[in-house]
Amino acid sequence: MALVTLTPNITALLYLFSAVCFILAIKGLASPTSARTGNILGIIGMIVAITTTFLGNAIAQPYYVLACIGIGGIIGTIIALKVKMTAMPQLVAGFHSLVGLAAVLIAVAAFFSPESFDIGTTDNISKSSLIELSLGAIIGAITFSGSIIAFLKLQGTLGGAPLRFIGQHLFNLLVAIGISYTAFTLYHTSDPLMFWIMIGLSFFIGFLLILPIGGADMPVVISMLNSYSGWAAAGIGFTLNNSLLIITGALVGASGAILSYVMCKAMNRSIFNVIFGGLGEPKDDTLELTHISEQPVNQGNADDAAFMMSGERSIIIIPGYGMAVAQAQHALKEMADLLLQKDIQVRYAIHPVAGRMPGHMNVLLAEANVPYEQVLELDEINRDFSSTDIAFIIGANDITNPAAKTNKSSPIYGMPVFNVRDAGHVLFVKRSLSSGYAGVENELFYDDNTVMLFGDAKQMCEQIVKALEAM
Ligand code: NDP
Repeated sequence: MALVTLTPNITALLYLFSAVCFILAIKGLASPTSARTGNILGIIGMIVAITTTFLGNAIAQPYYVLACIGIGGIIGTIIALKVKMTAMPQLVAGFHSLVGLAAVLIAVAAFFSPESFDIGTTDNISKSSLIELSLGAIIGAITFSGSIIAFLKLQGTLGGAPLRFIGQHLFNLLVAIGISYTAFTLYHTSDPLMFWIMIGLSFFIGFLLILPIGGADMPVVISMLNSYSGWAAAGIGFTLNNSLLIITGALVGASGAILSYVMCKAMNRSIFNVIFGGLGEPKDDTLELTHISEQPVNQGNADDAAFMMSGERSIIIIPGYGMAVAQAQHALKEMADLLLQKDIQVRYAIHPVAGRMPGHMNVLLAEANVPYEQVLELDEINRDFSSTDIAFIIGANDITNPAAKTNKSSPIYGMPVFNVRDAGHVLFVKRSLSSGYAGVENELFYDDNTVMLFGDAKQMCEQIVKALEAM
């Protein structure tokens, strides 16, 4: 028995309130200026949703449920407090997998104990509920196994390179037909064997769909799995007859789908390629790499960089994943401020997939109090490189790689990249000549107008600041 029981009307009203909070939260998160408010609204909506679900239903073991919520909450808080900013994408992928698994487990519980869910009896589950729980289980299982692969790829346990085998797409098609067949048979017979095979095949196809997707396309995969987890939750919401779960699932599903579409457009990728597991993607480019890496590079130090920049009029800073790793944003801002004091125009160029999560660079620059008007998106600034004296690349690599424009066999071919080559000079801060996340070597290192500044991004910025101050 619940501690206090809410009437169905009050429950519905509170669910509506939560849903409105979630919608406003998503709206708030669309801009850095309103993101904090968005987050707070999301938290309020979730607290109201959980409390209402708890009080609005006749729960047989309320203390047991409370204990589970407490344990889950403590684990989640510890993980969120401990996780490094650079490991956020893995964390998100890991959490998506849990949403998928939860959907599967609820479907299993509903299938074997339909009376508890008010959807019929063991031998006679209502047909609409069978469809809903099958959909929830299929999408949930795909989300679970797909997210595990995404997690392993992002964690570096599995290589970022696409994993493919001959006849893969035909094989995927056969597995998809198998899932449809078992779901269809389940609908007509309620046979538990069909239920288990359907779930097993769905887990399997989740692995198959994500394994062939290459490193540079992982951002789209993450947002797509996010969308799947939403649809799985919505499907289960129907089974549980819970309006808020349906609304929330649909919100996550739809916003994730829109984000996937927007990212595909920004990356010049086909959404169907991503959904169907790297259909028609280019091959690897290992042959070309050997050739590139034999060439010499121009190498400089912080004093050279300070000298070069202080004599120019315009600089575009391109931050990437390495800036996040080094936590160089504050030192970078200090460097930029000194250049601004010398009447040099300084702007920041943000690529849609820079770093390891959407908006990664924006968050870090906002944390360092970089004014929003200095931060420009790829489309807004890419034409300006030809009239810019210096492109200062800090811990970025793939997002500047010209192979995306020139090498048709490269896994990043077609992805829009910054036209840094058009700038007067390129200063490249990184620790070595190694490649970026997609594993593709960058021929930009070897250009005549490129100067490599080898070192940790934060230390390099601090040294440049000292050199600028000493001038
Ligand atoms: P990259 O991964 O291409 O390159 C980062 C570079 O940073 C590396 O080459 C590395 O070189 C350098 N680096 C690492 N640590 C340091 C340090 N301490 N100091 C200085 N440099 C350092 O990053 P980009 O931001 O250019 O591109 C993002 C890539 O990640 C894209 O391929 C994208 O598709 C992918 N991705 C993006 C996601 C997103 O949502 N944004 C999610 C998942 C993947 P070195 O070792 O020589 O220092």
